[in-house]
Amino acid sequence: MTTSAGSTEALSHPTVWLVGAGPGDPELLTLKAVRAIRRATVLLVDDLVGDGVLHYARRSARIVHVGKRGGCHSTPQAFIQQLMLREAQSGECVVRLKGGDPFVFGRGGEEAEYLRAHGVEVEVVNGITSGLAAATAVQVPLTHREHAHGVILVTGHAKQGESGLHWPTLAAAAAQGLTLVIYMSVATATEVQTGLLPALSASTPVAVVQHASLPQQRHAVGVLGGLVELIAQHGLGSPAIILVGDVLSGLQQVAGARAQVRAA
Ligand code: SAH
Repeated sequence: MTTSAGSTEALSHPTVWLVGAGPGDPELLTLKAVRAIRRATVLLVDDLVGDGVLHYARRSARIVHVGKRGGCHSTPQAFIQQLMLREAQSGECVVRLKGGDPFVFGRGGEEAEYLRAHGVEVEVVNGITSGLAAATAVQVPLTHREHAHGVILVTGHAKQGESGLHWPTLAAAAAQGLTLVIYMSVATATEVQTGLLPALSASTPVAVVQHASLPQQRHAVGVLGGLVELIAQHGLGSPAIILVGDVLSGLQQVAGARAQVRAA
């Protein structure tokens, strides 16, 4: 089979590679991801994939930006899935590049199900998820044994009652020593703060990390009682991760924020 990009690489069966591009820094790509990107004749790329990552693509590869920049506002997910299917069936070596890990939020699971249901093989290549990169950005071990015995990765996007997100349960888990890593949560920070507060102390440490691993990375550290204010004060926005838990208590800024909460 000859692909439109001129490759003679035979694809025995239509296949799509769902590849994790990591949090942005191209040095955090896996070797397997780089190999897949180099081999691709068609790349479907999310907005959150760092530009440096595309450096590894062939010059002849067709790069389709399928995030908001790609202009597919109405039914983006259906459009992306159909495009992947069509390209794979026509013999292209298709790589779907997703920010972070393809199977941590970001609808990678749905894409894999759709492709398999249409007879396309799916290969998944892990990436470093942005929640882990965010913790590293503030130099905090998410499971420091003195403070935490586990981690919960959760989206702050779903509203109370939708997708089973239940803040009091999360707050109780955090109070028991589980660190919360909250994705897609900056816009809904008010819900995060008010949802967690009754069951979790206002002086619980929080950190907000934007653009983890990228040169424009920024972060702020404070306490749960002042989360919304902290985000506004530092002008933080998407893409960002909110970290909640005592693993952050060693950070210098936490002591100051706690004193403010006590004084209020
Ligand atoms: N699959 C991705 C998550 C996709 S959902 C992963 O594993 O990381 C999109 C959310 O990921 C964003 O709203 C934000 O919360 C988070 N995110 C992605 N890249 C980020 C980055 N570099 N820094 C901070 N948060 C990021």
